[in-house]
Amino acid sequence: MNARTALLRQELARRPLLCDGATGTQLQLLGLAPGACGELWAVDHPERLQQVHQAYLSAGADLLTTNTFGGTAGVLGPHGAGGRVRELNAAAARLARRIAGERAWVLGDVGPFGGMLEPLGESLPDDVAAAFREQITALLEGGADAILVETMSDPAEAVLAVAAAKACGAALVFVTFTFQQSPRGYRTMLGTSAAEALAAVLAAGADVVGANCGTALSLADYERLTAELVAAAHGHPVIVQPNAGSPKLVDGKICYDESAAQFAEAAPRFLAAGARIVGGCCGSTPAHIAAMAKLVRG
Ligand SMILES: [Zn+2]
Repeated sequence: MNARTALLRQELARRPLLCDGATGTQLQLLGLAPGACGELWAVDHPERLQQVHQAYLSAGADLLTTNTFGGTAGVLGPHGAGGRVRELNAAAARLARRIAGERAWVLGDVGPFGGMLEPLGESLPDDVAAAFREQITALLEGGADAILVETMSDPAEAVLAVAAAKACGAALVFVTFTFQQSPRGYRTMLGTSAAEALAAVLAAGADVVGANCGTALSLADYERLTAELVAAAHGHPVIVQPNAGSPKLVDGKICYDESAAQFAEAAPRFLAAGARIVGGCCGSTPAHIAAMAKLVRG
């Protein structure tokens, strides 16, 4: 473990940390067309990506997330960039690392691989594991301090990503699942509970666990979900990154409901419920993170 990652581990034990907010929706504000490949911006528009990272750093984020959510070969492939995994992920990590300097840590972001594992789908575990290793190798090469596996629905997929991160030498691995309401409580799209999801990734060696970007979850839902996650985390730090409500189309523009003030009001409740890291997902902005920073630091 390098010195910076070791310091992150220490700080996690010492104080609540603030993660950044959404990258994708911020890039859309800077001109990324919906459905276009944002990962290409690490190379095509580094100055705009830099602007997003810088805004979150200035807002007070302790953790910056690389712009590599769709950075596996299978997700980049349809954009004609399946052969550019190493280039794009390493470039994105280098860019975030340069902005973070000694003021923040960089989480190398890993999203879903874009398909379904067998038997639900046709993807083979060995192939998916290799795709995650290819991406994570490049993120670490570019200087990511830890790996964040996020927006997971299938614990089997999350386990493959955690194992890949460990195999690549990541000293600190975060995993977040995406939950929704169900008659039996909060579940992933595949029906997995928080307890089941966390047990699977903790057994695989995840260090920090939690939730991000739920479907139709209010901030009050996230508070209740946080308590479930904390109970299931067995002492591991819990990270909670709510989306700012559900996207709505208003006058041709995508809008999100939850304001920075609402996020700021919710942050202390997440911490009181036991979360150790808070941040935001889709629709959250530097204003949301700045508003939370006052309360997380206070
Ligand atoms: Zn999101």
